[in-house]
Amino acid sequence: MRRPSIIPKHEDSNGWWETLLPPTKANVLRETHHVQTAIIGAGICGLSVAHQLSKQCPNDDIAVIEAERAGNNASGRNAGFMLNVHSHGPPKKIDVLRRNMKLWLSGLEDLRRMVREFQIDCDWDEYGRLYGSAGPDGEIHIAEIAETLDQLELEHSWFSREEMQSKIGTSFYKRGLHTPGSALVNPAALMRGLARNLPASVQLFEESPVLGIERSGGGFLIETAEGSMRADRVVLAAGVFLPQFGVAKNRFVSMATYASLTAPLTDDELSQMGSAESFGLLGSSEYGSTIRLTKDRRLFIRNVFEFAPGAPTSNANVVDISSMHRKAMQVRWPGLAETKFEHSWGGQMAFTNNNGTVFGEVETGLYAILTNDVSPMTRGTAAGRLLADFMTGQDSDLLSVQMSIPKASRLPPRPILDIGVAARRGLLRLAARKEF
Ligand SMILES: Cc1cc2nc3c(=O)[nH]c(=O)nc-3n(C[C@H](O)[C@H](O)[C@H](O)COP(=O)(O)OP(=O)(O)OC[C@H]3O[C@@H](n4cnc5c(N)ncnc54)[C@H](O)[C@@H]3O)c2cc1C
Repeated sequence: MRRPSIIPKHEDSNGWWETLLPPTKANVLRETHHVQTAIIGAGICGLSVAHQLSKQCPNDDIAVIEAERAGNNASGRNAGFMLNVHSHGPPKKIDVLRRNMKLWLSGLEDLRRMVREFQIDCDWDEYGRLYGSAGPDGEIHIAEIAETLDQLELEHSWFSREEMQSKIGTSFYKRGLHTPGSALVNPAALMRGLARNLPASVQLFEESPVLGIERSGGGFLIETAEGSMRADRVVLAAGVFLPQFGVAKNRFVSMATYASLTAPLTDDELSQMGSAESFGLLGSSEYGSTIRLTKDRRLFIRNVFEFAPGAPTSNANVVDISSMHRKAMQVRWPGLAETKFEHSWGGQMAFTNNNGTVFGEVETGLYAILTNDVSPMTRGTAAGRLLADFMTGQDSDLLSVQMSIPKASRLPPRPILDIGVAARRGLLRLAARKEF
């Protein structure tokens, strides 16, 4: 019996979710059902598997079982960068980057297509992304990012401090680097849209935490808080909660990161923002702040990484960390000193040691998928589609690319891991203190 001891439950205020219309009532799993495939987790990985599997197996009944609401998970609480490629630090092996980029691009293309096809209102914006460097660490990294873009022959343009000032209204950054090709979204709206547009053969059960899975009668019996599901096969798409099901233990580190969102800026406040046009900026240092001005005039700030092995982010942390977001805002736009955040929240993401994967059949009939490291939303979209192909024996060049990625390597046991993560985090944070 696989019995998770930690069940995700977010109690903080995810701004992307809160600014949407209230959701329709959750369809809670009650009584006993039977499906061919049950997918656990309605994040980007789970929903992507569901969309593709329903195409490959149109006569199958498929269920997606979610502990919370689709769109209020990591996939709906992120910074909303749907990336074609992204790389911190010295240029990686270019062949590896090119290989990964094929996956990220195909995931991005899937998302573009679904947003168009289902007319998902998620503020999809083909802005690309802007990198900013403020101090010595940022300068090193921004030059490395430009070198990587050069090697990949990807278009990019530089902005001086003065140009950054006129574009986004702050002289905080020494320079900026813009590259097209990726998109910005409201991630909660995107995820809700993907969930709403699941085909009729896929039933989504929300607020239905899975409490146990066991083998039964040649398939699986899944126990939820108020019901149960019999399934011939199961896909575990539980994000950083995968180890709770006994899979991918010690294969990735779960890091919490935090974000805040203001109310729509007033005309006065917006006049501080240079051209006042929406933008998405990534710190060029790994530990730099991510900043967005949304199409509906809200300012978004994300920073801080904390080791969070398994446990959902707590409200107490969020309160502390929102004061760091305030500092990041004030140091860039002193004129916004009085501007309040309407929402602050946290979420977790997975980092492996070797940019490896968790993908495939872990034992007969039981599949697992995880997205991690860089570009996780587009990577997860592609991996989800490819897992459905893998499950149904559909071969493709892209599936070979996915299969060529090494498995996520084993990490040291705790508490050695904790010490290693704390040391690396401390060093990155110290180096990037001017980028915060
Ligand atoms: C603040 C923040 C900013 C980020 N910014 C970006 C960004 O700009 N671009 C980008 O690409 N990535 C970004 N990420 C990372 C990205 O959001 C995640 O890596 C990605 O969403 C993970 O997708 P997933 O499907 O694996 O997991 P999730 O979205 O977490 O989905 C897993 C689902 O499984 C469910 N589940 C777990 N256990 C159970 C159970 N027992 N029963 C039922 N359901 C269960 C969970 O509730 C959850 O809904 C960011 C993350 C955070 C937190």
